[in-house]
Amino acid sequence: MSHEFHVVVPPKKIIVITAPSGAGKTSIVKKLVEQRPDLEFSVSCTTRTPREGEVNGKDYYFITVPEFQQRIQQGDFVEHEEVYPGQFYGSLKSEVERIWSKRKIVLYDIDVKGAESIKKKYGRDAIVIYIAPPDKETLVRRLTNRNTESKDSLKKRIKKAEEELSYQSKADKIVVNADFDIAFMNVKNVITNFLKLGAPAHH
Ligand code: 5GP
Repeated sequence: MSHEFHVVVPPKKIIVITAPSGAGKTSIVKKLVEQRPDLEFSVSCTTRTPREGEVNGKDYYFITVPEFQQRIQQGDFVEHEEVYPGQFYGSLKSEVERIWSKRKIVLYDIDVKGAESIKKKYGRDAIVIYIAPPDKETLVRRLTNRNTESKDSLKKRIKKAEEELSYQSKADKIVVNADFDIAFMNVKNVITNFLKLGAPAHH
């Protein structure tokens, strides 16, 4: 008697949520993790100081600049960027391995340049979803209302966000965040399609 074994190996997939700062991507990522146990957030390293309520090892690994440099030397990062002058962010190879070994899908919340690097590296196993603010005024208002930054840091973030708006043409999918619930539903639909069909082939 012969047996056929159907071992279901989930594909090694990556979902990248990117946006200009202030487009509301972090709230979308948080809610995705709550609703979909098959996705797991990849915890990045950063050299910035923790904001109130942020937990080391959950939101980020908060490390010093020398530690960050050492981790670059060791080749620990999939990609890393100086997102703001003097502030480094990097996604860890160990996170991808940890998440895939649990048979889960990697979920990233990273800046536009990081998103581009991940896409280059993983091709159609990765999808880049760009969360776009409805317009520039909304973006500036959201950044200003967040109130977690000093005036100088806020100015840097607004300038950066303006630059980042131009990256949306490189994304696989763009979801406009005018209404959170609608944007969230659209992101979920994009993810469902990606997991069924792979990333769109326009690259
Ligand atoms: P925040 O300081 O507001 O948490 O993050 C600032 C920016 O850095 C956001 O756009 C966030 O998505 C991005 N970011 C967070 N982790 C990484 C990372 O590992 N790599 C890159 N390139 N950007 C990151």
